Amino acid sequence: MINGKTKLIGVLGWPVGHSLSPAIHNAALNELGIDCAYLPLQVSPECLAAAISGLKALGFIGFNVTIPYKVRIIPYLDEIERGAALIGAVNTVVNDDGCLVGYNTDADGFINSLKYHNVEVDSSKVAILGAGGAARAVVYGLFSHGAKQIVIGARDNGKAIDFSGSFNSIRISGMGWQDSAFTEWLAEADIIINATPLGMYPNINSMPPLNWQVVNKQAIVCDIVYNPYNTKFLNVARQHGHKIITGEGMLVEQAALALELWTGKVAPRQTMYKIIQKLLNSSIK
Ligand code: NAP
Repeated sequence: MINGKTKLIGVLGWPVGHSLSPAIHNAALNELGIDCAYLPLQVSPECLAAAISGLKALGFIGFNVTIPYKVRIIPYLDEIERGAALIGAVNTVVNDDGCLVGYNTDADGFINSLKYHNVEVDSSKVAILGAGGAARAVVYGLFSHGAKQIVIGARDNGKAIDFSGSFNSIRISGMGWQDSAFTEWLAEADIIINATPLGMYPNINSMPPLNWQVVNKQAIVCDIVYNPYNTKFLNVARQHGHKIITGEGMLVEQAALALELWTGKVAPRQTMYKIIQKLLNSSIK
């Protein structure tokens, strides 16, 4: 029950009506017995600065940031954690006594979803499809956890090259996913990840183009799209005998890490997984 002492958290975005975060976080806060409410905070772009001052003035203990503000929020924050600065995007803000500190929990959220399935990242060879915002967090997570070589393939080879160049590491390279060098890399990669929205509801019959005949038979295939739970990409990978990892793990883990930053308590991941699975099962048409 909300009362005069209830602390506040929220998700800042435009729009936020579709967000699963309020349901996940309120279930977790309830399970932990923490007197705190998590609210959807729909803010139009022209009101962003006023909204951030308002959240500070209202004493919010923190908030999540979603589309389209993960990059735009940065100039309004007082400090940015190193990983978030390298990724260039913030999805979690902690209000530390009036000092707003930005974090990115998508990177470790993705890594934790691999660890949950006992996937070894250290020394791995990785192929990533897509060169957008989520791919940046995934690449940073893999890089900082010791991946040996990461190759980004995108439909636009120029974007893949610029994207990989911005990390300034010989362990990260980019090319067009139609290039023969990318196909050759698929034969070597231990982990293959879809980081595009291809396959996301309602376009559930789309998937990134991949020559499955050449793909390393032992490769673990992951999707960060979480609606639907089993994407076409993962279904085809499974038919080719690959171990698969679905995208809702990253969603839950990034939320769990954010909750831990705000509360200092270990997040109740099982409860969070259950609520997501229930919501996704009921939302897919
Ligand atoms: P984004 O910044 O818009 O990037 C999308 C990437 O996919 C870009 O490289 C884009 O290429 C490519 N792409 C988009 N449509 C394409 C198409 N029809 N054919 C080929 N390539 C296409 O998006 P994002 O924020 O990275 O999100 C990507 C997906 O990840 C979304 O489905 C999102 O829901 C999901 N996601 C999941 C989690 C999680 O917790 N599981 C977290 C974050 C995001 P161009 O630049 O050429 O357009």
